[in-house]
Amino acid sequence: MSGDTAHLHRDGIPADTLSKVDMYLDSFCLSEEKLQKVSAQLRKDMIRGLGKHSHNKAPVKMLPTFVRATPDGTEKGDFLALDLGGTNFRVLHVRVVEEEQKVLKMDSQICAIPKEMMLGTGEQLFDHIAACLSDFLVSQDLKGQTLPLGFTFSFPCEQKEIDKSILIRWTKGFNCSGVEGEDVVKLLKEAIHRRGDFNIGSVAMVNDTVGTMMSCGYRDQSCEIGMIIGTGTNACYMEEMKNVKRVEGEDGRMCINTEWGGFGDDKSLRGIQTEFDLKVDETSINPGVHTFEKMISGMYLGEIVRLVLLKLTEEKLLFEGQISEALKTPERFETKFISEIEEPDSGLENTQRILTKLGLKWNEVDSRVVRLVCDTISSRSARLCGAALATIANHMRICRGLDHLKTTVGVDGTVYRKHPNFSEELKETVRSLASKCDITFLVSEDGSGKGAAMVTAVAQRLALQSRL
Ligand code: BGC
Ligand code: MG
Repeated sequence: MSGDTAHLHRDGIPADTLSKVDMYLDSFCLSEEKLQKVSAQLRKDMIRGLGKHSHNKAPVKMLPTFVRATPDGTEKGDFLALDLGGTNFRVLHVRVVEEEQKVLKMDSQICAIPKEMMLGTGEQLFDHIAACLSDFLVSQDLKGQTLPLGFTFSFPCEQKEIDKSILIRWTKGFNCSGVEGEDVVKLLKEAIHRRGDFNIGSVAMVNDTVGTMMSCGYRDQSCEIGMIIGTGTNACYMEEMKNVKRVEGEDGRMCINTEWGGFGDDKSLRGIQTEFDLKVDETSINPGVHTFEKMISGMYLGEIVRLVLLKLTEEKLLFEGQISEALKTPERFETKFISEIEEPDSGLENTQRILTKLGLKWNEVDSRVVRLVCDTISSRSARLCGAALATIANHMRICRGLDHLKTTVGVDGTVYRKHPNFSEELKETVRSLASKCDITFLVSEDGSGKGAAMVTAVAQRLALQSRL
């Protein structure tokens, strides 16, 4: 095995078992050289995505967001925010306080979206969203007011204006009919109109990465990258307008939503995809799309682990070859198990509890092998994300003609936050692949909610300034 995996927990596994297990795990272990290749390919694809003519066929979409400025600390006011596309759907009331340079979450409410609704009609989905908003306004005594609304919609959208945004495709298990190709702001406004019991002010649409960048931007004005590693994965960053060939104007910067989840959709990652990745893709509701995301994000990590465990059991390298019903069932191995299993102190105990829960008869060595599998797969995810982030940082540095770039990344997402060593491994990879960049990581508190309000606030500030 290559040196980059030296940190993995390999102790307590007999050498002959280990060497057989490694035959399956080796393909997940990416050397620095391979990561560098991935990074070089991504840089090419980013440039393709930015180009006026090459954009159409580009797997990395590089979508203009019409966010041209990060906060300057003078924004203020009360806002509503909607956050759809992460672990939960939420409605928030947010206050931006200028004197304290703070974004306060006044209150928020989680509304469940039943799985049937994720696969139903768009009209049902937006009626549900409008109903949740209505309930929230009543509970907050805000129904008479007309507050501006920031809408964090965490799916790839072709944005025409800050309040006009066409859904390119659903991801992450959503597949509502009649929404792809439509303006999501219009669908929301129509649903509110159908109810007729409240009004909203101006709307700003944002991707969650953008919200995350903007919410950190109020605290740290050098925050120019936003990154999410949760159910899905993606990043945005401030690009020079002269490079954004699809939007008029050469001056200043605009935030670009990279949609790096689609990296590899033209098969450029075929060389590093394993048989397990191919299986996850085949059995997903959107085969062939979001290749990179399927190797990295929370929606898929557990499933990759399950498929590897299943294979190792079939090969009699685990559980004496006894497969349980649960192990055979898609999605039964949850991504959060990986974090529990890799916990530095209680990891092995957690593993054993989880294996019992999955109806598996384990011995001590089995539990160590399972931990090694989880570690290998989460490490690959962290290193791939690190390589992608390094690509963005290097690109920004080069485009700005700098020898050295100092910047801040706003980050959010369950995988990044909850996994015991994911963030460390990611940072290590970024340090080695972007050695001329000095990157500070800020975990965004409630980024996609507060950030949406922040985008709305910045848009208002700019509108006011241009009227003066
Ligand atoms: C979506 C992105 C989003 C990311 C993180 C991906 O599936 O395409 O728009 O930012 O998930 O939520
Ligand atoms: Mg790991």
